[in-house]
Amino acid sequence: MKSIKHVIGGAETDSADGATFDDVDPYTQEPYATVALGAAQEADLAVRAARKAFDEGPWPRMSFEERGKLLHRLADLMDAHTADLALADTRDMGKPIAAATSKDVPRSALNFRFFADHARLSESQHLPSATGHHTFVQHSPAGVVAAIAPWNFPLMLETWKVAPALAWGNTVVLKPAEDTPHSAYLLARLALEAGIPDGVLNVVHGYGPGSAGEALTTNPAVDRITFTGESGTGKAIARAAAANLTPVSFELGGKGCNLIFDDADLDNALQRSLEAAFGNAGQVCLAGSRLYVQQGVYEEFTERFAAAAAALPLGDPKDPSTRLGPLASEEHYRKVTGYLDPEAHGHSKLLGGGAAPGWFVRPTIVLDPPPHAPVLREEIFGPIVTITPFTTEDEATKLANDTPYGLSAMLFTENLHRAHRVASTLNSGNVWVNCFFVRDLRAPFGGFGDSGIGREGGTCSKEFFTEARTVTMRICS
Ligand code: NAD
Repeated sequence: MKSIKHVIGGAETDSADGATFDDVDPYTQEPYATVALGAAQEADLAVRAARKAFDEGPWPRMSFEERGKLLHRLADLMDAHTADLALADTRDMGKPIAAATSKDVPRSALNFRFFADHARLSESQHLPSATGHHTFVQHSPAGVVAAIAPWNFPLMLETWKVAPALAWGNTVVLKPAEDTPHSAYLLARLALEAGIPDGVLNVVHGYGPGSAGEALTTNPAVDRITFTGESGTGKAIARAAAANLTPVSFELGGKGCNLIFDDADLDNALQRSLEAAFGNAGQVCLAGSRLYVQQGVYEEFTERFAAAAAALPLGDPKDPSTRLGPLASEEHYRKVTGYLDPEAHGHSKLLGGGAAPGWFVRPTIVLDPPPHAPVLREEIFGPIVTITPFTTEDEATKLANDTPYGLSAMLFTENLHRAHRVASTLNSGNVWVNCFFVRDLRAPFGGFGDSGIGREGGTCSKEFFTEARTVTMRICS
């Protein structure tokens, strides 16, 4: 059995009381590693290490070039260890190895390169005035950042937080999700190998409530909390953070819509819709899980979509040809299969799908469920999607916006005017027209409504991970 430890102040450590928990491989359903189980004490030690590195260490005082060099070195080491990092996520949560190797790990390394360069090239405001005063704005690192991550894209979402926080000179305590501790541990070791000083990136393992996660959110020495996870957890963290007025940035749940108009390029719509519905076994906050298809192409699209979904190869996530692995954990498998209950899908017709042996769920399509069916209202986070027909553009946007979430939307049309018109009416932080999952890291990323608070990416990450100081000088008398 492997042993996955905390990394605190540059040292690999067990918990003070020796507590551990099992890291279960969802394909074999067997534990394959033991993980140090952190509690308030370990969270506190990690925050102290990060505080010391911030208050006394070189990291926040380095030039952007020096820090950038170390972050680029870390990215190079991640590239060199792609196989280990990819396998860690695959064994932890059943992500197909092909996706982990070709998408998650390269994008994670890119996060470090991108944010190192973005910080180095970033400009700040200079405001000369006719009164003889000159005002300029400094962006100082905020301090100690607590980064709390989910399990669906473990390394990718952790680096999306850690990379900008470090690039702007902060120190970090990262708490990966309890189901996916492995790649964060490897990342912390690689950061040390890259020469990033002790205490700059700390990793503490454990659960959320009553465990390491909650302890980070109540610690007054934490200056920023960046969290990705469920909307309900976001509310709990917001309450905890309020006690210390700690600023938060939240990327929360989603219930993405996907509008397919009669004039769409149907082959393209089909491919992108499959990816958006069933990629990562539907365990994607941005998933296009509510499809709305215009009457003229409804039958053809539904038939072809169902056939293509049924043909997606399910299997061992370590096999490079697998497109759908098992769901990430037994608990999650039980939650997702609950939506196969007729009460949950409003007794609607199902195309394909259902549970398969192990913690697998086959791609399942629910046809035209009633508007209040849980399958249409709640985030399922699995390979179960709905398809609903519509007639007019106006009806489509109303249906699309009928949700408390607002993270992602897709639309397929060859009509440029319609594309602009519809995109600008969707209550969604991200809108993809004729494509899916294309990300420009300079752009804001986040959600409307229950899908989040604030935005990260590019300049938004700069604003969140720094304190702006406005300096005004009288330069002429
Ligand atoms: P989760 O909310 O259960 O857990 C996320 C993290 O929070 C874990 O590390 C967990 O240990 C920790 N946590 C739980 N309760 C806590 C508490 N009270 N205090 C502090 N930490 C706590 O979410 P999950 O099941 O890991 O992830 C799936 C969810 O994440 C879905 O809702 C999905 O949509 C969302 N998500 C959103 C985005 C986005 O960018 N908006 C991206 C990926 C996932």
